[in-house]
Amino acid sequence: MPVPEQSEPEVRQYVEVALPIPVRKNFTYRLPARLSEQIKVGARVLVPFGKRFITGYALSFPDKLKESLEMDPASIKDVVELIDADPLINGEILRLAEWAAEYYSASFGEMLKASLPAGINSGTEQLLTIAEAGRRSLSNDSARKSAKADILAKIASANDLDLKQLTDEFGDAKARRSVRDLINAGMVTSSTRSVPAPIKSKRRKAVRLLDTDVAADSPLNDRQKRVVEVLRAHQGTMLFAELLGAADTGASPISTLEKRGIVEVFVQEVLRDPLKDVELPAPLDLKLNAEQAFVLSEITNAVRHGEYRGFLLHGVTGSGKTEVYIRAMQQALALGKGSLMLVPEIALTPIFSRRLKAVFGDEVAILHSNLSPGERYDEWRRIHSGDARIVIGTRSAIFAPIVNLGLIVIDEEHDTSYRQSESPFYNARDLGVVRANHARAAIVLGSATPSLETFHNARAGKYQYLQLQNRIGDRPMATAELIDMREVFKRAGKDLVISPQLIDAIRETHAKGEQSIILLNRRGFSSFVMCRSCGETLRCQNCDITLTYHKRENRVTCHYCNYSTVTPRACPFCESEFLYFVGQGTEQIEALLEKQFPNLRIARVDRDTMKKKGLIDRTLLSFDRGEIDMLVGTQMLAKGHDFHNVTLVGVISVDIGLGLPDFRSAERTFQLLTQVAGRAGRGTLRGRVLIQTYHPEHYALRYAVEQNYEKFYDHEIRFRERMSYPPFVALASVLIKHPDLAKAQRYADILKIGLDQANSEGKVRILGPAFASIARIKNEFRLQIILKSTSRKFLRTVLDQGLRQAEVSGGDPRRYTLEIDPISLM
Ligand code: ADP
Ligand code: ZN
Ligand code: ZN
Repeated sequence: MPVPEQSEPEVRQYVEVALPIPVRKNFTYRLPARLSEQIKVGARVLVPFGKRFITGYALSFPDKLKESLEMDPASIKDVVELIDADPLINGEILRLAEWAAEYYSASFGEMLKASLPAGINSGTEQLLTIAEAGRRSLSNDSARKSAKADILAKIASANDLDLKQLTDEFGDAKARRSVRDLINAGMVTSSTRSVPAPIKSKRRKAVRLLDTDVAADSPLNDRQKRVVEVLRAHQGTMLFAELLGAADTGASPISTLEKRGIVEVFVQEVLRDPLKDVELPAPLDLKLNAEQAFVLSEITNAVRHGEYRGFLLHGVTGSGKTEVYIRAMQQALALGKGSLMLVPEIALTPIFSRRLKAVFGDEVAILHSNLSPGERYDEWRRIHSGDARIVIGTRSAIFAPIVNLGLIVIDEEHDTSYRQSESPFYNARDLGVVRANHARAAIVLGSATPSLETFHNARAGKYQYLQLQNRIGDRPMATAELIDMREVFKRAGKDLVISPQLIDAIRETHAKGEQSIILLNRRGFSSFVMCRSCGETLRCQNCDITLTYHKRENRVTCHYCNYSTVTPRACPFCESEFLYFVGQGTEQIEALLEKQFPNLRIARVDRDTMKKKGLIDRTLLSFDRGEIDMLVGTQMLAKGHDFHNVTLVGVISVDIGLGLPDFRSAERTFQLLTQVAGRAGRGTLRGRVLIQTYHPEHYALRYAVEQNYEKFYDHEIRFRERMSYPPFVALASVLIKHPDLAKAQRYADILKIGLDQANSEGKVRILGPAFASIARIKNEFRLQIILKSTSRKFLRTVLDQGLRQAEVSGGDPRRYTLEIDPISLM
């Protein structure tokens, strides 16, 4: 693995370490002689920090302390342990994470931690050490017998005893109680440390056939013969447990064979393969059309050149972008180069993964959030070792240590799931561009509905613009129609959830044996409990947000903090019993449709059903095979799927998205509807899309129905320019959080003053502090300050200086959460 060569000093004395804590600086430690020769840049090290031990990342080896730090050499602590002899983080990833930490004003150590597979260093242990008072106590009354005395003696006899050893021996409650008393009495001191790599590689017993020429006439009984035959049919080696199953036998014939030297039983490392044993589709043998062939050759040429090159691939849904990506990765592989393809969280459908596996076999590694930590770790190691040179993954795969990277593909580049929604914030699409730049690779940003930023950049010449204007086989785009729900209300004299037009369309579709998808804009916003007497809604006691009603369990739940309670019978505000349920969740829509169409096989796909491992895969596969007639779900159904028999897509309520207080809400709605429309009519049958709305005149809806991206872009970009939003300004937001409202306000005011001082030239617009759109989450009040500037440089300077000033004036830096390029201001 490429690790930058370090000019070897005589003896390395110090190491600069990045720590995964929310502090924007690195720390210096001393290297004990035993580690100084072994350690390399990018290795993880265990270091003392305050009362804890934490895992950090070795960055460099200064041969003398920086004068500017004014550090007293005596105060510098030793590195405790070197965790990786072979560093997990290579030079390229180190550089990318450093760039990201700087750009997003985040901690380098946190960024590096985010770059490694989750769970790789999350365990902790509590270490106990005897104190002077403890020793005295032991020598004084060594005769006294008690569990506490035994525990104290045990701690005295060991160096840094792990609490777990005591709980194993003395029982959990007793050990913990005694230890707590001993610590309080000053006889024992305690510290915690993180335990490296709780994820272990997986080992299994396996059986290998040694004597493959066992003659048919050798005296084997039937069961032994069967074992030998089954082994032969599997190239001579099988996992023990699988062999038992396949040969339908117990263990004894195997051990007899082992004694006779015919087979060998050994321990094998098995890589956890998320797609083990699945049936793979036959590879498609397609001939690219002329548009596809041109796009592919442009991309391949760039890969061959080995220089940075950025493309926007703008192709309508169903134009064959995915096929181009796959071919481009094949060509890169033929040139000896690795590829990385990012997909949105949801687009990693089981069907797509299987297709990749069919094309690339073991060369492909797949990283997404539904993998177990063990599976993810194993996939990651195959990438690290260079065994897998094609990587498909969601957001965090942008840090996958691919060897000799030649191509990056960001599918559905506009998708908001590329934005990490918690600290350290980053946008994987934007990091992709940086990484391609560093690696001299080509990058393709692909979408049917490019983000305004990307399209703007392409127009400015920052990316080469490539287009796929037609659907494969010149299939027509689905026709889309708006259903004006105000009219529906007038005619029916009451609110209807599903309009007569949509009901008719569903009936017609299924009469023809075709499938449909019914989509609700968003879970959680839709179903809540309201009091008819006083008009209050049931709200979370920790967060300022309406609770979502779940019919099946008769509970209300908060989607921010998971608070959940049985739906009360009476209003908590006025005690009236006239509670009623407003809005429709996916569950209610499903129930309604089941009642309306008792003969249809209907399944639901939303965040709830996602929680059951494997359920969503089974549902989608079974829909693909035609065993389900209709899917009801949230926007996760809108993206990426390629079902050929779907001819109708119905959207129940598109307005919720438009009503959100966010400058991107029109863009999001346009993207969603265009993507939705792209799910219909992907086979040879023409598709139809019906969209129910109370705002049929809204431009985002009108242009989505026309499927006219450029008109939408022209309208939206003028709005962004007029209102000073990205891409015309750089944006940053600071969230100020505190359980005490007065303190939150004080910290916000201190920061505001600091920012204003730093902004004496007035080059940055500073808005707020004001309540964030959700004013309280998990019992913390949330205030927000927003900064805008046409100069990113000034924006950063004002932010950095303002925060420093706030700290000096008594603002607590831990209360400020800083976000550069926030994807939304909600
Ligand atoms: P997109 O990613 O642009 O939405 P896909 O790559 O999923 O489009 O292609 C849409 C459908 O057309 C898929 O079923 C795909 O297998 C098929 N397809 C793609 N390219 C070709 C081609 N050159 N000839 C025939 N079918 C194709
Ligand atoms: Zn009430
Ligand atoms: Zn809550």
